[in-house]
Amino acid sequence: MEENNLNKTMMQYFEWYLPKNCDLWNKLSKEAVSIASAGITSVWLPPAYKGAGGNQDTGYGVYDMYDLGEFLQKGSIGTKYGTREEYLNAIKILRANNIEVIADIVLNHKMGADSTEKVFAYKMDSKNRNNRVGKLREIEAYTKFDFSERYNKYSSFKWDSSHFDGVDYDAKNKQTGIFLFYGKSWDKDVDLENGNYDYLMGADVDFNNVEVIEEFINWGVWYVNTTNIDGFRLDAVKHIRAEFFKEWLEKVEERVGKNLYCVGEYWSTYRDALEYFINKNDERIQVFDVPLHYNLYEASKQHEKYDLKNIFKGTLVQSMPKMAVTFVDNHDSEIGQSLESFVEDWFKPLAYALILLRNQGLPCVFYGDYYGIEKYNFKGFKLLIERMLSIRRKYVYGTQNDYFNDRGLIGWTLEGDPYGKGYGCAVVLSNKPGIHTKKMFIGERYAHEKFVDILGYMPKPIYIDANGYGQFKCDGISVSCWVREESIFD
Ligand code: CA
Repeated sequence: MEENNLNKTMMQYFEWYLPKNCDLWNKLSKEAVSIASAGITSVWLPPAYKGAGGNQDTGYGVYDMYDLGEFLQKGSIGTKYGTREEYLNAIKILRANNIEVIADIVLNHKMGADSTEKVFAYKMDSKNRNNRVGKLREIEAYTKFDFSERYNKYSSFKWDSSHFDGVDYDAKNKQTGIFLFYGKSWDKDVDLENGNYDYLMGADVDFNNVEVIEEFINWGVWYVNTTNIDGFRLDAVKHIRAEFFKEWLEKVEERVGKNLYCVGEYWSTYRDALEYFINKNDERIQVFDVPLHYNLYEASKQHEKYDLKNIFKGTLVQSMPKMAVTFVDNHDSEIGQSLESFVEDWFKPLAYALILLRNQGLPCVFYGDYYGIEKYNFKGFKLLIERMLSIRRKYVYGTQNDYFNDRGLIGWTLEGDPYGKGYGCAVVLSNKPGIHTKKMFIGERYAHEKFVDILGYMPKPIYIDANGYGQFKCDGISVSCWVREESIFD
């Protein structure tokens, strides 16, 4: 099969609790060859610029977007993941290994301002951000960003209160709350949670301000030209007016002269909200399938009580497969995070089969599931994920037939591509005890062929009947993947 037509898989190359000396960019440079040969075709890297927390910041507390680990700001030169030089080197090595690089960028807010400004503001009701609580008052807001240690290198743009809609702290009265600046309004066309979910944290950027829009275009062009990345993972898109991204992307692409891949993080279980965002951006930006993540999480919590027939119900990969990036867990769903919803260990192999061994959606493997998470002694599933990645690359092709007809036992087959070298396979998985059998059609061209479980859980082979059906088996609370035995050596 042509290299270009091989199934694609993304990897999220970080988890929340990496230690500050994790040396991530250098680790990535060393691992690039091995993850490429495992079948990873793109990596999503964490925000690479200086956060308010210096070298302890995961990157989401955005301070200076031009400081990729180059200036002594916020107490360190490097970021949590390394220096600018190490970052650029890692990108070069990844791309040389045919891995696309997706940069995580956070445009919604800024943190760690250099000084405060006096601003008039209304305190807003945190449960309904459209409602004022109290009168107009003068507050002291952390909104001035001078980046004086950078000495205007790359850009002389300075942020001040005119570029923001609001903050969550009044330094004058030492009071927390959500403050909307006088003369400003929250962005329309954002998520409707809390009445209007424009405000998330820090100093909230005003996406109706022309200077801001211009600055983000300039920065985007600088960033792509400096790093040579292939695309973006857009953070917190539900907190920014939906159409901004399409407009921004078009301008940046025009000026850098190449197309940029984009996936947005819209954290909502409401598929309608995801579809709305996708449509507003003319299907230019893929979205993480958050509803699927929660289905996987629920299935793992409920064990045998969960009806596996519903595992794709309400998901984006079901309604808009081309726009869905499927995932099992990520840095936000980890234990101890605000969106904690970590899929239980026993279900991880089944969950990864459900994203890696099917032909809809672009699956994303989580660093924590691959390498493990030291913080809570989670060992990860490196070997299993590697095995599934190699199955994905070789066998997940052709017409897919679903057999989602038993609450405790589901399966599907891929018939393979009869014209290319993309093979087919049959997957069976179960959340109940016992040995199970599922009769499924895989294609008449496999009649009388010997099939084996390439995951190795079921030791005995089976034979496809004259009509192209097989009695595919799996163990209780397990997953098996059946392939033609002869093909293993091809
Ligand atoms: Ca916002």
